[in-house]
Formats: sequence, C-alpha cells, structure tokens
Amino acid sequence: MELIVARPEGLYCTAGDFYIDPWRPVDRAVITHAHSDHARVGHGHYLAHTDSEGTLRARLGADIPLQTLPYGEAIEHKGVRISLHPAGHVLGSAQVRLEHGGRVWVASGDYKLEDDGTCAPFEPVRCDTFITESTFGLPIYRWPAQPVLFAEIDAWWRTNAAAGRASVLLGYAFGKAQRILHGVDSSIGPIVVHGAVEPLNAVYRAAGVRLPPTLRVTDPGVDAALLKTALVVAPPSAQGTPWIRRFGNYSDGFASGWMQLRGTRRRRGVDKGFVMSDHADWPGLQRAIGATGAECVYVTHGSVAVMVRWLAEQGLDARSFKTEYGDEDGETAPAAEPAGQGA
Ligand SMILES: [Zn+2]
Ligand SMILES: [Zn+2]
Repeated sequence: MELIVARPEGLYCTAGDFYIDPWRPVDRAVITHAHSDHARVGHGHYLAHTDSEGTLRARLGADIPLQTLPYGEAIEHKGVRISLHPAGHVLGSAQVRLEHGGRVWVASGDYKLEDDGTCAPFEPVRCDTFITESTFGLPIYRWPAQPVLFAEIDAWWRTNAAAGRASVLLGYAFGKAQRILHGVDSSIGPIVVHGAVEPLNAVYRAAGVRLPPTLRVTDPGVDAALLKTALVVAPPSAQGTPWIRRFGNYSDGFASGWMQLRGTRRRRGVDKGFVMSDHADWPGLQRAIGATGAECVYVTHGSVAVMVRWLAEQGLDARSFKTEYGDEDGETAPAAEPAGQGA
C-alpha cells in the first residue's frame, strides 16, 4: 500500500492516519509552511516546524493546537517516523520525511534551492518516493543569481531616489517582502512597509533574521520629503488603493517569478518587473529531484503534466496528485502560461 495517498481532504498518510497540508478540516495535520494555501484553519491538531509557530499563530489564531519540531528531530506516530527538513521556501518551511516499514517518502511542500539568508537553506533528503511541487516547472523559468537581482533592484531604487520619487515594490507579504528587505542596500534611503508586512517582519526578526529598520507611513517623520528617497514594500493587493496613491509620483515594481513571462509586467501595469521567486526554477526542480535519489516522484501543483512527462523521460516512475494548492503569491498562473498547466 502507498504510504501517502490523495484524499478529498488532502494528502493522507495511510499508516499514520494524518494529513500533510490538507485543504479541508481534519483531525491531524502536518503543515509544511504557513502560506495560506498550505496552512488552513480548522484542524484538530497541527504539527509544524518551530519557526512556523509565529506565522501560524498570527494567521490561524493564537490558540491553535500546535506541536512544533526542530529540523532533523524525529517523532514516532502510529509506527511512522516523522521528521522535518529545511525547504528553503519561507521562514519555517519544511519537507516532511516519513519512514514506515523500511520505506521513506518525502513531501516537500514548496521549496527553493538558493539560500536567501531569511530561512534555513534547502537540504536534499534521500528517499524512495518524493512528492514535489512544479509551480515553475517549465524550461523558460531560470532565476537570475541573487547578486544580479538585488543589483537591479538597488539601481532602480537609486535612480528613483535621485529623481525625487518613491520606489514602490510589490511583493507577497510573507516571505517575498522579507527577502526584499534582507537583500536590498538599505544605505540608499529609508524603507517604509505596508501594515500587512510589518507583523511578519516582527516574526522574522524574533527568529533572528537580520532585516534593516522599517517605518510605517503613520510613524513620526514619515513625510513627503522622506518618501522622495524611500523604498516602499507592499503586498500586491495594495496596488491601486488609496494607501499607495498617497506616494504621489512614484515608480512601481513587482517581484515575482511570473515576471519572467513575457507580458506579465505590462498586464500588471507596473514600471518594473523583478524576477524573484520563493520557488525552485526549472533547473532547481531537476536538481532537487535528482538529489533525493527517488525512483518514484509525485507532482502536486504547477506545471504538472510537463514535469510528469519530463520525469518519465528520465526513467522515473512519475505520477501526480490532484491538490488544491495555489501558485506563487497565492495566484494561479497568468493567462499567458501555456494551456494545460493549471494546478
Ligand atoms: Zn508557499
Ligand atoms: Zn504551494
């Protein structure tokens, strides 16, 4: 029998009688990370990495029944050995390793290979069966190296500051925003963040992640003169709102893996697109899957058909699970994505 199967509630561990990132309320859930499509309300018991506690309690309620586990430490549940391993996606993100009857399965949740300094970097875990995402599982997705990416963001901010206009950078509030803050050259000017971003900054800082000082628009001293040289970090949902319009003649940018797709920046209606993702790019997915040594691979969300075909061509037993996970930034792929890639 398979150790993990897809049920209407989510991915289910048959021997252990628990779910991984279920999308419907269940008794026992192991949560890979606190993004809203993987961590949902209403479960009877939660197990997640220690560093996910702050974000899970902030998003799902302070009193959720949560048990935490550090990376690499195993617990036993109904004969299934469960341990969590770094996924490099956002703070506290974990791959779930299950061992039962001599077989090892790893459910990776969302992951990224490049170390971004804001969470524990991805560690490949040897297994027989690997469950992978495929959000950016098309050969066109190849991320720029981080020094290149941040040089580009810094140059844009510097140019705007010299021209006396704010630089408004849109990025998902949990993970993307903190990565931006951690990576930019904070000597260029002051940094102002949206109200949805600052509580997550607090969680990251409490976990020991270095972030530069950040201001809220309501803080004393945040005035028109200061905003002329400021970097403003806000979630995509702030676009077009009065909160953003207060910055007057600003330049805006959008940080997302989808920016690699021609036309996304224009459709988003922003001045600048930065290719930045919390997910593995195409070479990263291949490297990660290869490093597990798995002979059987299940694909959960993103470019499922393309990835399954590619894996089968490599001689692997490639399958898919139908899930209800979203894509990067909780959005589905932009319309220009080739047909048939929906999660
Ligand atoms: Zn995620
Ligand atoms: Zn996901």
